[in-house]
Amino acid sequence: MNVIRIRGARTNNLRDLDVDLPRGRLIVFVGVSGSGKSSLVFDTIAAEAGHQLNETFPPFTRNRLPKWTRPDTDEIAGLSPVVLIDQRRIGGNARSTVGTITDAWTYLRLLYSRAGTPHIGESGHFSFNDPAGMCPDCSGLGEIVVSAVERFLDLDKSLAEGAILLPGFGHGGYWYSQYADIGSFDPGTPLRDWTPGQRQALLYGGEHAARLGTRPPKDYEGVVQRFERIYLHTSDDLSDRKRETIARFTRSQTCPACHGDRLNEAARGVTVLGRTIGELARMEITELAGWVEQVRDPAVAPVVAALGDKLRAMDTIGLGYLHLGRATTTLSGGESQRVKTVKHLGSSLVEMLYVFDEPTVGLHPHDVAAMTALLRRLRDKGNTVLVVEHDPAVMAIADQIVEIGPDAGAGGGRLVFQGGFEELRAARTATSRALAARVAPAAAPRTPTGAITVTGATRNNLKNLTVDIPAQVLTVLTGVAGSGKSSLAAELVAQHAAVVIDQRPVSVNRRSTPITYTGIAAPVRRLFARHSGRPASLFSANSAGACPECKGLGVVYTDLAFMDGQESVCETCQGRRFTEDVLRHRVNGLSIADVDELTIAGALDRLPDPAIRDALRHLDRVGLGYLRLGQPLTTLSGGECQRVKIARELREAAEPSLYVLDEPTTGLHLRDIAALLGVLDQLVGQGHTVVVIEHNLDVIRRADWVIDLGPGPGRHGGQVLYQGPVAGLRGTATAAALHEGQP
Ligand code: ADP
Ligand code: ADP
Ligand code: ZN
Ligand code: ZN
Repeated sequence: MNVIRIRGARTNNLRDLDVDLPRGRLIVFVGVSGSGKSSLVFDTIAAEAGHQLNETFPPFTRNRLPKWTRPDTDEIAGLSPVVLIDQRRIGGNARSTVGTITDAWTYLRLLYSRAGTPHIGESGHFSFNDPAGMCPDCSGLGEIVVSAVERFLDLDKSLAEGAILLPGFGHGGYWYSQYADIGSFDPGTPLRDWTPGQRQALLYGGEHAARLGTRPPKDYEGVVQRFERIYLHTSDDLSDRKRETIARFTRSQTCPACHGDRLNEAARGVTVLGRTIGELARMEITELAGWVEQVRDPAVAPVVAALGDKLRAMDTIGLGYLHLGRATTTLSGGESQRVKTVKHLGSSLVEMLYVFDEPTVGLHPHDVAAMTALLRRLRDKGNTVLVVEHDPAVMAIADQIVEIGPDAGAGGGRLVFQGGFEELRAARTATSRALAARVAPAAAPRTPTGAITVTGATRNNLKNLTVDIPAQVLTVLTGVAGSGKSSLAAELVAQHAAVVIDQRPVSVNRRSTPITYTGIAAPVRRLFARHSGRPASLFSANSAGACPECKGLGVVYTDLAFMDGQESVCETCQGRRFTEDVLRHRVNGLSIADVDELTIAGALDRLPDPAIRDALRHLDRVGLGYLRLGQPLTTLSGGECQRVKIARELREAAEPSLYVLDEPTTGLHLRDIAALLGVLDQLVGQGHTVVVIEHNLDVIRRADWVIDLGPGPGRHGGQVLYQGPVAGLRGTATAAALHEGQP
């Protein structure tokens, strides 16, 4: 079969959607935010492909594979095994590095075990995840946890008042009496009034105290030793409380034994062409690729060739500024996605289905060409590549473009266009209209009221920058990926009180929804009470009006021995959670159960109440009017979470504040970017200072002030190339992209 055939797709907002997608092609999905692109590509196509793939495994294995929810469709045929390459961060394992996740480290280990001086045997001796290779002091983590002693004591208090802040050391606690009874410490005097020697003796114990000449009557264990014995040097399973205590009273530092190389002494001493493997782990990938080419030993030629290919692929895709030793937990969403892409490029599997979620996130227009080349390469190997994307540069290289729409939420979910890029331009869809329109540049830059200065910034690759951020205007930080934008923003946040509006989840609680988040549950109940003349409590799903069968949950749970519990819709209320008596009462034709299904925009229209209006209108303004009131916030994408947070600031912030946003256009359709710009302008209008990291040219054009970093990534960047009004920007990669995009 040469097409993927989809009939009657109904996941989320899809309206019985039918579409045939040619296999072996690069297909880009477009449409306004919330139109249903993800519902089609991820929740329908990828979910079904994943489900079918899992079915091919025996039940034992299947239980260990990711669970795919089977989509609601009449028919899907012509799928291949799916590889999902999304922006989810690579995860919390400290043992995972750019080198290990891309397999480049495996090749380096082979190279060192076969061609190193001296020769130490197997490649496991160069693995920091193998006892044969790991540094014994840090177990291969490169970092050790040490006591943050300065956080242990409150000097303004006496022992009796709880000067020792560690749990269990307070007045009446077990450890407390041990110190109070020693006799040489006065439990009633604030620690500030003790001699430094006495404080040292308290912290480090009798032996240490003896050395200081303040001999206590008996030998005892100091607070620090005791803390480390109980909390750090223990093999017990740690309770959550212990974990919390450790997080509060310790900090990580580079392992003094291996200096962060993670390897034991033997492995650290082996060299190839005069370099240790640890030095290579810290070298930028671009540079490392050049070094590898100089290794001419015929015994390792195949390893060198494979390693060279891998490193060049990483360079091509715009990751050349990273180093192999970089922990994957520190990568941004866009970087994580590019790292995952590299992992699959080397794969020799063909006829796979690759699914990408906005692969241009975090990429400067200058770097986008490398990404599009890569997408084509995957296709040319005989794979089908599906991409959800808003960037016109990616649309331009598609074999086919599919637009879902025409609008968001209930107003979307249909196929509105399928064809080539030029045909799309000529069509009349939200995307073609947005492609034709241009956001006008700021008429005249606003005048700052002062400056917020970042001084001596050296974080990561920054070259000792001192930069003024103009107050109460919109500043955009620009520059190629890896040039230092996030580092400068982090330094700004570290030096000044700033509110970071990021893409992290708004809530991890599966029960939180726009209703709970905005606190409109009570006003909604009062609205129903006013209209019906009944008490407001009747309209609460955990009180009198709740369905007696499911107690207002809408679902019932059946426990099954040996298997996951089953959840099924309550038969009594059919999932509506309330009794018939309650559901009879209506506001504008809606029952209380219908409220969950309303979108935010719908609620603004149909629930006439000032408190509800006030709580929801900001979410509508940031382009989230399509969210359902009952939709769990855990289902939101990173970009949507960020917009929820912007809305919260619009609603709440009173004092003029400094806001820092990282790529707020992520996941936004060209059309919705104009609305976002309106919101940023409003924040500035309220007296706030707004700093945005952005690649989107329309946002850059509307900036009052641009700080362009570069010229290159990593150590080739970290300098300010330009700072000033956007009109004066010349001669940089950003300037070139701005002028190229000019009509
Ligand atoms: P797009 O990818 O085009 O931005 P989505 O497919 O994410 O749009 O969303 C389409 C509609 O489905 C939106 O109204 C959205 O709020 C809703 N939706 C998305 N995910 C879920 C979910 N897990 N549960 C319920 N509704 C959802
Ligand atoms: P941008 O935001 O412009 O893409 P970054 O500020 O993220 O650039 O990165 C600048 C340089 O600092 C890059 O070489 C990057 O690899 C490095 N870097 C960023 N974060 C870290 C980190 N947590 N640890 C080590 N290096 C980092
Ligand atoms: Zn170590
Ligand atoms: Zn029920």
